[in-house]
Amino acid sequence: MRATVIHGAGDVRVEDVPDPVLREPTDAVLRVLRSCICGSDLWPYGSMPASEQGRRIGHEFLGVVEETGAEVSGLRPGDVVVAPFVWADNTCDFCREGLQTSCRHGGNWGAPGVDGGQGEAVRVPQAQGTLVKLPVGEDSALLPSLLSLSDVFPTGHHCAVTAGVNPRTTVTVIGDGAVGLCAVLAAKRLGAERIILMGRHKARTDLGREFGATDVVAERGEEGVAKVRELTGGDGTHTVLECVGLRPAVETAYAVVRAGGTISRVGAPQYPDVPADFGTFLRNITLTGGVAPARAYIEELLPDVLEGTVQPGKVFDRTVDLDGVPDGYRAMADREALKVLVRP
Ligand SMILES: [Zn+2]
Repeated sequence: MRATVIHGAGDVRVEDVPDPVLREPTDAVLRVLRSCICGSDLWPYGSMPASEQGRRIGHEFLGVVEETGAEVSGLRPGDVVVAPFVWADNTCDFCREGLQTSCRHGGNWGAPGVDGGQGEAVRVPQAQGTLVKLPVGEDSALLPSLLSLSDVFPTGHHCAVTAGVNPRTTVTVIGDGAVGLCAVLAAKRLGAERIILMGRHKARTDLGREFGATDVVAERGEEGVAKVRELTGGDGTHTVLECVGLRPAVETAYAVVRAGGTISRVGAPQYPDVPADFGTFLRNITLTGGVAPARAYIEELLPDVLEGTVQPGKVFDRTVDLDGVPDGYRAMADREALKVLVRP
């Protein structure tokens, strides 16, 4: 079969690789219907040291079960399923606490010996715990929104949930990437009535408004902070959803959060430390967030996606086939595309 292999910064290739086969009785083999490129795939795309052998990549996908191991129950060949962005047994103590990203028997797609999602097929370890069956056919128009359950929508949701967003909280979302826009959607879904989106790409912030943002602040740095404060009577917002992962974003988060408020960050942090000085102590600021246990949220978010109440799949603004994957990376890195859907 063919699959995406990253060999280093700026070097993504689609190559022939061995067909996946059942290795463990807990495995399943999945034929990929849709996959996509994640903003976090752009970090290795920007900085991975060159490698002759390369490594498989892609962690967001949905597909059709082709084969299941002897110990997999509840899944049959032909089932359409979505995979969260880490695999997990869904039975250990961490999984039972809703922290499948810390599963004692789980792991990452694209790790040594594990397939990546940007290919024609995937061997799924811990298939019974990992995969969630979807009540749709292979040609469903809902596939893009259902694919978003793999990562981007639960990540936005995790940000809103850990920040404590509810109908009484005001919200600032920092970042107009796909995660930031999904955080807007999640905050709206949780009842927030005032959602300020900080982003400067008009097409993206327009989608943010469609998703529920009530105000858009295009300014950055001190100007952006002043604008958010002006919009909130000088106080800032109860919650701040930091969906970028860069130092200036987290600094902005501390500057626009209201005293007693909560900052949640889900952008993979590309900085070693956060502001935690006496000033933030005096203001009683809580910092939370982290990698989203997507598996914990899929069943909760699924009904709204099936009913069309939310349409997170609107973040996909370009579709490529496997051959188009390298150019999809380039387009996302150049900010030409918001999020690229892959149709193998
Ligand atoms: Zn587990």
